[in-house]
Amino acid sequence: MKMPPFRVLSPKSLDEALHMSRDLSDSGEAFDWIAGGTDLLPNYKWHINVKSHVISLSSIPELRELSGNHIGAMVSINDLAEDAVTHPVLAKAANSVASVLIRKSGTVGGNICLDTRCYWVNQSETWRESIDWCYKCDCGTGADCRVIPNQNTLCVATYQADLAPVLMCLGATIHLASPSGTRSLPLCEFFELDGMTRNVLESGELVTHITIPEDSAEWSGDYQKLRQRDSWDFPEAGVAVLWKGVSSSGPANLRVATTGLESIPSLHLEEAEEALSRWRGAETIEDLAESIRKAVKPVQNTWFSPSYRRKMVKVLTKRACRDLLVS
Ligand SMILES: Cc1cc2nc3c(=O)[nH]c(=O)nc-3n(C[C@H](O)[C@H](O)[C@H](O)COP(=O)(O)OP(=O)(O)OC[C@H]3O[C@@H](n4cnc5c(N)ncnc54)[C@H](O)[C@@H]3O)c2cc1C
Ligand code: SF4
Repeated sequence: MKMPPFRVLSPKSLDEALHMSRDLSDSGEAFDWIAGGTDLLPNYKWHINVKSHVISLSSIPELRELSGNHIGAMVSINDLAEDAVTHPVLAKAANSVASVLIRKSGTVGGNICLDTRCYWVNQSETWRESIDWCYKCDCGTGADCRVIPNQNTLCVATYQADLAPVLMCLGATIHLASPSGTRSLPLCEFFELDGMTRNVLESGELVTHITIPEDSAEWSGDYQKLRQRDSWDFPEAGVAVLWKGVSSSGPANLRVATTGLESIPSLHLEEAEEALSRWRGAETIEDLAESIRKAVKPVQNTWFSPSYRRKMVKVLTKRACRDLLVS
């Protein structure tokens, strides 16, 4: 597979990056941000939605800051996994991303903005041409989606990144910058239920950093992941459960979030509230796990079948709650 040609721009500061993005937009040129390139470059090699320009974020020092409550977009996943300041459940999720080589190049920003995946599109161009393409990369043919047929307005490719569910349970805020200014929003409002647009980023806008509330050290929990090969595969299902303030009547707070099951990661507020409102220990965890199984709606576009992934969501939720019963 030959990499198609594109031009790389390498700004040395955030201001310069935003100027470059404005210049490209003004001249009608399409571009992608590139961080570690571990997701974008394989997609480019497969000729999936290649742009004429990429703006590299690798030489911008202000995007690399890491502390207990501040994670720069260009912090590598490996540094996040290994740094003592990282919340232990977030470190566990980071450690489960791909392989150590990919974690050393891959970044937090790239992981949060990871392109959605589907076995009808993450294939070579020749393979995709042989099936007459699909809506996400239709090469001007107006092809339909292969998963939800007879329509070419919605892509349901799956979001398969590991960090988001833990960050959502910790109550993280995501910070964005564009040539017209900055804005911040809860991470759970960042994602959009469409495998093409994926998130609320406007053209020319990028993620600068993520902040985690001051009370993060009070939260305990676990992240559990289903994947084909433990050595490096994407999550076929991932469940984060975090809790704080545990007493004999159960936890005071409980949050559950999932990934690898739909076009976006999801925070399951109602299911967690319901569990808290009638806490009966192991019985409640069983009910909670069942309600999460019912809430997720995987489709047939990753390695394992939707029914198996849903069954495993229940198992993963119960596993993630194990320490809750002994705390
Ligand atoms: C074999 C293999 C296995 C993998 N397994 C896993 C896995 O188990 N779990 C998992 O979570 N991921 C997995 N990945 C996916 C990926 O490598 C990682 O998620 C990685 O974190 C992506 O980061 P990156 O910096 O390389 O992103 P890039 O490839 O540089 O970018 C990814 C996307 O994010 C956008 N982007 C990057 N940074 C920003 C920013 N600051 N603001 C706005 N947009 C931005 C890019 O434009 C691009 O669309 C795997 C990849 C491979 C190749
Ligand atoms: S969900 Fe449909 S449109 Fe999206 S990548 Fe898969 S087949 Fe293509």
